Amino acid sequence: ILKRNLKNSIAHMNQVLMDSLAACGDVNRNVMCTVLPEASEVHAEVVATAQAVGEHLLPKTTAYHEIWLDKKRVVDSKGEVVPDHEPIYGATYMPRKFKIAFAIPPRNDVDVYAHDLGFVAIVEGGEVVGYNVTAGGGMGASHGDPVTYPRLASVIGFCTPQQVIEVTEAIVTIQRDFGDRSERKHARFKYTIDDRGLDWLHDELESRLGYRLPEPRAFEFTHNGDQVGWQQTSDGMWHCVLFIQNGRLADREGATQLTGMREIAGIHQGEFRLTPNQNVVISGVTAEQRPAIDQLLQAHGLDSWNRQTPLRLHSMACVGFPTCGLSMAESERYLPDLVTLIEQQMEKHGLQQQAITIRMTGCPNGCARPYLAEIGLVGKGPGLYNLHLGAAFNGSRLNTLYRESVYEEDILSELDTLFASYAAERQANETFGDFLLRSGVVADAGLQQEGAA
Ligand code: SF4
Repeated sequence: ILKRNLKNSIAHMNQVLMDSLAACGDVNRNVMCTVLPEASEVHAEVVATAQAVGEHLLPKTTAYHEIWLDKKRVVDSKGEVVPDHEPIYGATYMPRKFKIAFAIPPRNDVDVYAHDLGFVAIVEGGEVVGYNVTAGGGMGASHGDPVTYPRLASVIGFCTPQQVIEVTEAIVTIQRDFGDRSERKHARFKYTIDDRGLDWLHDELESRLGYRLPEPRAFEFTHNGDQVGWQQTSDGMWHCVLFIQNGRLADREGATQLTGMREIAGIHQGEFRLTPNQNVVISGVTAEQRPAIDQLLQAHGLDSWNRQTPLRLHSMACVGFPTCGLSMAESERYLPDLVTLIEQQMEKHGLQQQAITIRMTGCPNGCARPYLAEIGLVGKGPGLYNLHLGAAFNGSRLNTLYRESVYEEDILSELDTLFASYAAERQANETFGDFLLRSGVVADAGLQQEGAA
């Protein structure tokens, strides 16, 4: 969106009942959750809870409406402006952005351990009996600055569905009160926890809640990323998760995906949803409408999930150059070509059907969550990347730095050697990340969380 069109765009978004309030800034951001509430009653309940948390943490300020929607400022009887009252954020908001996600095992499609606060649904007898609470996740780091680092969220306890809002508010206000406001690079919740310790967090939480969180319950994550393709839910509706490589819809030679999406939007009666993995869901399609949408998917190459390798389906890149001013290296524009080269290597070793998570970012801020990928590439300079290896496939273990400042040639040569060993020595169903850890290629940094496959 060009800058001069921004106000108009936000006004139009408002007309269709969407907003970007709290989409950035030192505030709780959009709460992430499954994109398919129709999948089951459990999914619907968890989505509703995630939405309630998001609503509860929305800033009460009227500034958004005043700036973007020409709303008049609220004045009292004397004509004086009534100041905003923020019951949770107070006058100074959060020390830094704050992110929350809800996951429903066995899918960790939101990368719950990457968030400041997470809730993992515990389902027994087909009902959500509560949530394991995770705290202190975050991806961002800076090159050459060891006091900044990615951190995997800690599983700190269990709460009932009725306690979710109060637990959220207690955690958010703890970070509001104790987060570092003097150094932005040290202001995320992960640093507050590491500086003060998990015991301190438990004590502080208890003092605000009036009770201590009980032990977390058992659960298992087996997957990361989206389940692409068509799914039918019990209400008879169809939903199609499209693989959109690195989230970039465009018309390219051989695949007019952008035109195709516009044509589908012209006939689709349901919703479009964006997934936490850069994909798009065409949701709420009737059996009668499906053939017409299928035809458009095929005509415009939007059915590409059928033809991609598991590696590509599990690839993700941030925008990097030229969109992001912080980028040091190519990311979105480069990863597809690198994946093609890695696919050739994997085929050589008979690994073409092996799912491996691979993520790339143009800088260490980690927007595509590269530290949770089995193969993570973090930009350092033009054509130059840090190679991280050994995360868990299900997102429950961070990777570790394997090679610093390597070009494409070195990346491919390192992976070729490792794929050869993996093909020859892996155990049944052993993922690439787990193999690298077991075989000592990367060290166990002690970062595994519950939920490993
Ligand atoms: Fe920009 Fe990518 Fe760095 Fe995020 S990770 S700040 S999108 S270059």
